[in-house]
Amino acid sequence: MHLPLLFAGLSFSGLTYAKSGASASATLSSSMSTSSGTLEIPQGASCACTKLSHSMPKSVIFPGSKNYTTQTVDYIWDIRANLSPACVFVPNTAAEVSQAVKIINECQANFAVRGGGHMNYPGANNIDAGVLIALSNLNAVNVKTDTVEVGPGLNWYQVYSALEPYGRACVGGRMKTIGVPGLTLIGGFHYFNNKYGYAMDNVVSYDVVLGNGTQVTATKTSHSDLFWALKGGANNFGIVTRFELKTFAVPEVSTTIQVYNETHLPQFLSAICESAKLDEEDPIAAGMIATIAYNVTTKFANFTKIPAEARINNVTTIKTWANALDSPKQMFRVQFSHKSMKPDAKVLYSIYKAWKAAVDTISDVQGLYPTFVINYVSPSSARVAKTNGVGNVWGLEEEPLIIWQFSTGWDLAQDDIRVEAWSRQLAEHFHSINKQLGIASEFVYMGDAGEWQDPYAGFPVENVARMRKIRSTYDPAGVFSTLSWGGFKLGL
Ligand SMILES: Cc1cc2nc3c(=O)[nH]c(=O)nc-3n(C[C@H](O)[C@H](O)[C@H](O)COP(=O)(O)OP(=O)(O)OC[C@H]3O[C@@H](n4cnc5c(N)ncnc54)[C@H](O)[C@@H]3O)c2cc1C
Repeated sequence: MHLPLLFAGLSFSGLTYAKSGASASATLSSSMSTSSGTLEIPQGASCACTKLSHSMPKSVIFPGSKNYTTQTVDYIWDIRANLSPACVFVPNTAAEVSQAVKIINECQANFAVRGGGHMNYPGANNIDAGVLIALSNLNAVNVKTDTVEVGPGLNWYQVYSALEPYGRACVGGRMKTIGVPGLTLIGGFHYFNNKYGYAMDNVVSYDVVLGNGTQVTATKTSHSDLFWALKGGANNFGIVTRFELKTFAVPEVSTTIQVYNETHLPQFLSAICESAKLDEEDPIAAGMIATIAYNVTTKFANFTKIPAEARINNVTTIKTWANALDSPKQMFRVQFSHKSMKPDAKVLYSIYKAWKAAVDTISDVQGLYPTFVINYVSPSSARVAKTNGVGNVWGLEEEPLIIWQFSTGWDLAQDDIRVEAWSRQLAEHFHSINKQLGIASEFVYMGDAGEWQDPYAGFPVENVARMRKIRSTYDPAGVFSTLSWGGFKLGL
């Protein structure tokens, strides 16, 4: 089976990879010095790091070791999120995760959990002076007949690589090094959404370590309430140590890379809106990544030099395609902001034009890398959860939605507040206009949300109430709400 994939955008390259270093003190004491100052280590973290290093010494890394930087910096995508844990715990088995959670609980230590490290803001997947549980070594993969068991230490390229010899693929990430766990626990936008739903809709089983260290397996028939809540419920319920995902016979895919210059933008946006509205009974699995990169220094000079339209068609495997789409870690400081709306190409174009004008107002920010990204929810992608007998926490109606997003990169910490405020104010301003026009949606995709956004506010209220009830059943002590406070928390 060949499936068409479409990459459409105004720019595809030009990203730069800038490494930054983080230094920390060599031993655990009551304080530690970091590149950004001295951190006091709370009693809880000190207790947990000491106990972890006594009970599982090979799995604990302290500041000063070479592997400490690997785990706390090299795995992280957004440079803003480089933090300095008191120790890093790198479990080799689910049993070790369970033991660690018990110790953390006993010590009442603050902790963070990291999978692929792509959630892009400080605290989402890292922590200052607490315990970082880094899942890198839980990287087993087991291909079964029509499913694959994957550990949370894997990225999507590794999963696609394991499936390729069997001519199979799964619904995962579109870029190479995005992690399996974060994307799967928050949704999962992929080219096949219109046919198979989101990554979360394709999980048949989760192995979870709960807040008291108990290990459970959640499926449609066992802990079915937890099974539902994990389909978009993020890191509020436990640490997932194994996912079992559905796979599909997809030996090859048809791919197209299309590049346009700015004069074609209205048609480009119109085509995206029409794609979002497509609502076939039995759709062919197909999707796209649509981005517009604005070079604020040269304006669109780069693009006007290229032919009005360039198109590269290919037939390849999903592994090879993903390999070409890398998103290097430590790329830049970056702020995501986005909102959703009903498809309306004219309004989308006016948002784009206003965004471009607003970019010019911060053109003096060093290393400014502004990108306008568009994703969409198609009716058939929402139908999967409506009809599969399980559902997911999003509870979306079978209606098309356009998600317009600003991804803004920059170089220096001194510009953090300025760019973050700029991005937020702009998104809220356009959203308020869309509200007046009656085309705004409150759906926010956690994977692309800024830290200032509340994805749960866009879920049906009854789903949020149900999630909170499930949380109180599985984590009555609030280990994943208070001790692990990073990421998008369900709140009270
Ligand atoms: C360049 C780029 C491209 C992207 N492309 C896509 C895309 O194509 N499709 C899409 O849907 N999204 C995409 N995203 C968004 C992406 O889904 C999120 O960033 C997601 O969080 C990445 O997962 P991760 O494992 O790498 O992240 P992490 O930052 O490691 O984890 C994300 C959150 O999940 C928690 N977590 C991690 N592992 C576990 C676990 N085992 N159990 C419980 N909680 C856990 C972490 O504590 C954290 O709060 C992209 C993001 C970036 C930066």
